[in-house]
Amino acid sequence: LGSYVRPESLEEALAVLGAGGRTLLAGGTDFYPARVGRAIDEDVLDLTALAGLRGITEGRYEWRIGALTTWSDLIAAPLPPLFDGLKRAAREVGGVQVQNAGTIAGNLCNASPAADGTPNLMALDADVELVSPDGVRRHPVRHFVEGNRRTARRPDEIVTAIVVPKAGPTARTTFLKLGARRYLVISIVMVAGFLEASEGKVSALRLAVGACSAVPQRLEALERALTGRPATAELGALVGPEHLSCLTPIDDVRASAGYRLDAALELVRRAIAELV
Ligand SMILES: Cc1cc2nc3c(=O)[nH]c(=O)nc-3n(C[C@H](O)[C@H](O)[C@H](O)COP(=O)(O)OP(=O)(O)OC[C@H]3O[C@@H](n4cnc5c(N)ncnc54)[C@H](O)[C@@H]3O)c2cc1C
Repeated sequence: LGSYVRPESLEEALAVLGAGGRTLLAGGTDFYPARVGRAIDEDVLDLTALAGLRGITEGRYEWRIGALTTWSDLIAAPLPPLFDGLKRAAREVGGVQVQNAGTIAGNLCNASPAADGTPNLMALDADVELVSPDGVRRHPVRHFVEGNRRTARRPDEIVTAIVVPKAGPTARTTFLKLGARRYLVISIVMVAGFLEASEGKVSALRLAVGACSAVPQRLEALERALTGRPATAELGALVGPEHLSCLTPIDDVRASAGYRLDAALELVRRAIAELV
């Protein structure tokens, strides 16, 4: 290890970060496995003593998920159906030990193409809250991940929360993940969805696909095509390969690109069927 600090206030953490490049550490469940087989030589800023960053709070217009909120915290929190998709992802991230340590913000900041949280946060139209000595800013999750392991976070910024706008009473979300087995597995494809209906018709729809491109993708053309249509079981049948043209899957040890596309099409149809 280079040097290690674990400040107890956000001000102190920002001052330490501003004094020189440091790697931020939350649950460590991405950080440590990525360093297996080599010495950890970077300077680390451990965020886990910043108690104010942990927990989920409800505001008038939005929900706030503190950056140190773990997957287990999320599972245990009494939340409306708006969070069903994210909670389903939480139950499928690793096993209980990983869920107890790993944070939702760490999953997002790690910017893995296979991060299960990110498509859900995109479907929820969430923002990332970042704090630096210059103040607080918000950035939409959908533009936060810029590439494989790359985000829009500046080196002097700490992610302090993920902010989820409230939705109407009909809002529902879902999450479907395909791996090589049911649990403890990296996704081959995953799909997150959000749907609101009004007078029996789709009034808002957001669908995001992960693990089929360097950055999870919203299916905007499909969202537009289905909005305004009757929210019935037939909706999924309207989805065709042309709606997935924004996906650019790769062949790797887990699946071929063609298999990923086929699976994505099927999961999108199933997600829509669940949502309606
Ligand atoms: C056995 C195992 C199984 C797993 N299964 C899954 C799975 O099924 N699905 C899945 O998506 N992931 C999985 N993971 C990966 C990991 O557990 C999650 O991505 C987890 O949510 C990461 O959170 P963390 O707090 O541990 O992040 P850390 O490892 O602490 O940090 C990850 C990255 O985020 C940055 N970071 C963390 N917090 C902040 C912050 N507040 N501000 C700015 N940057 C920050 C760190 O600098 C680092 O680059 C698995 C990991 C293991 C070890």
